[in-house]
Amino acid sequence: MNYDNQNIFAKILRGEIPCDKIYENDHVLAFNDITPQAPTHILLIPKGPYTTINDFGKNATAEELKAFYAAIDTIVTDKNLEKDGFRCIANSGRNAGQEVPHFHMHILGGKPLGPMLQAQK
Ligand code: 5GP
Repeated sequence: MNYDNQNIFAKILRGEIPCDKIYENDHVLAFNDITPQAPTHILLIPKGPYTTINDFGKNATAEELKAFYAAIDTIVTDKNLEKDGFRCIANSGRNAGQEVPHFHMHILGGKPLGPMLQAQK
């Protein structure tokens, strides 16, 4: 997948579209999902132009990788999600229904989240 710099998260990173910011540092930005699926539904994105979690894992620098995982911990701690638990989801590509082609981690919590996948017909 080639990186499309007109995707919605690239526009958020450039400040062309607003977001409800939760956390930011040199390498990551986190903001509330516009259509929350749980009481806490945060999107964590790297600032670099990565399309999927495996693109990020393969091509990000050690500093970017460390910053990303450290940000998960910061958010989970700040939002008090650790005690009751939380879920991280990174949809990647067509079969996962990835809508925005800039790697993002959904961080969900605040209630029991149910089974990982909907029952398939
Ligand atoms: P995906 O399906 O690609 O894993 O998830 C994309 C997520 O981005 C969806 O949960 C959707 O609600 C969220 N989203 C799409 N457009 C915007 C936007 O403009 N602002 C914010 N904050 N979230 C968005």
